[in-house]
Amino acid sequence: MPQHKLSLCRDCYPSWFLKQVKNTILKYKMFDKDERILVAVSGGKDSLSLWDALVKLGYNADGVHIYLGIKEYSDISLELSKKMSERLNKMLHIVDINELSNPISKIAKKNRRPVCSICGFVRRYILNKIALEKGYTCVATGHNLDDETAILLSNVLRWNVELLARQKPVLQKDDKLVKKVKPLCRLTEKEIKTYASISGFDFVEQKCPYSTNSTVNFLKEILNRIEEKSPGTKIQFYQKFVKVADVFKIKEEKLNYCQICGQPTTANICTFCRLLKS
Ligand code: SF4
Ligand code: ZN
Repeated sequence: MPQHKLSLCRDCYPSWFLKQVKNTILKYKMFDKDERILVAVSGGKDSLSLWDALVKLGYNADGVHIYLGIKEYSDISLELSKKMSERLNKMLHIVDINELSNPISKIAKKNRRPVCSICGFVRRYILNKIALEKGYTCVATGHNLDDETAILLSNVLRWNVELLARQKPVLQKDDKLVKKVKPLCRLTEKEIKTYASISGFDFVEQKCPYSTNSTVNFLKEILNRIEEKSPGTKIQFYQKFVKVADVFKIKEEKLNYCQICGQPTTANICTFCRLLKS
């Protein structure tokens, strides 16, 4: 790991990885040992490694899997999420989108919107709802350093101040929105994949068939090339952003409760209920 000027063997690597996760949680004051954490588990290497690491570090972490109804990709994702729940002996909440409405692709088609934009929105809605209903203090997601720096670069290139304000490793809660945290934000995809492989658990290797976000992938490629020439650039780019991130303010909007589902919204009826209605 040239960015850390460090080489480790298989035996020492997992404890180094866990220490990195713990330091990130402490550095950004994400949560304490007495909090109930809900991990958004997709079945991929990031979310499964996160869940495994939090439990090994002694945090009280359950999982939630949202079954999106994307053919065999969703079936494998669900199966591997269940396997991890058994391995960790922790509760996995499962939300089947088919029971609420239709597969995600059908909702997108009906609303004439890209599948990923509907998917991202629906997942954020469900995570917040389940966490509030079941009494969790925060939702932890498996965003890694490669995701965060690519999105950061995209937001900076457009100076999208609103999105920059939302890109911090901790988004504090208010009474209607649960706290959101990203404990893997300082670890690269490669470091996480190495942890998953050494730990010996299976994760979904295939990509979601709708995963065509070429802009983010293109920015990841560029950042990888910069990182190769100048190791440590990604982590510095991200950490220095976090230090100054408070200058970007989230636009204050008055939140009401949706008249149908009771979830927070700026309108009378929330976007989720409007999507399902159409
Ligand atoms: Fe959802 Fe798009 Fe990700 Fe697939 S690639 S899981 S549709 S956001
Ligand atoms: Zn609603």
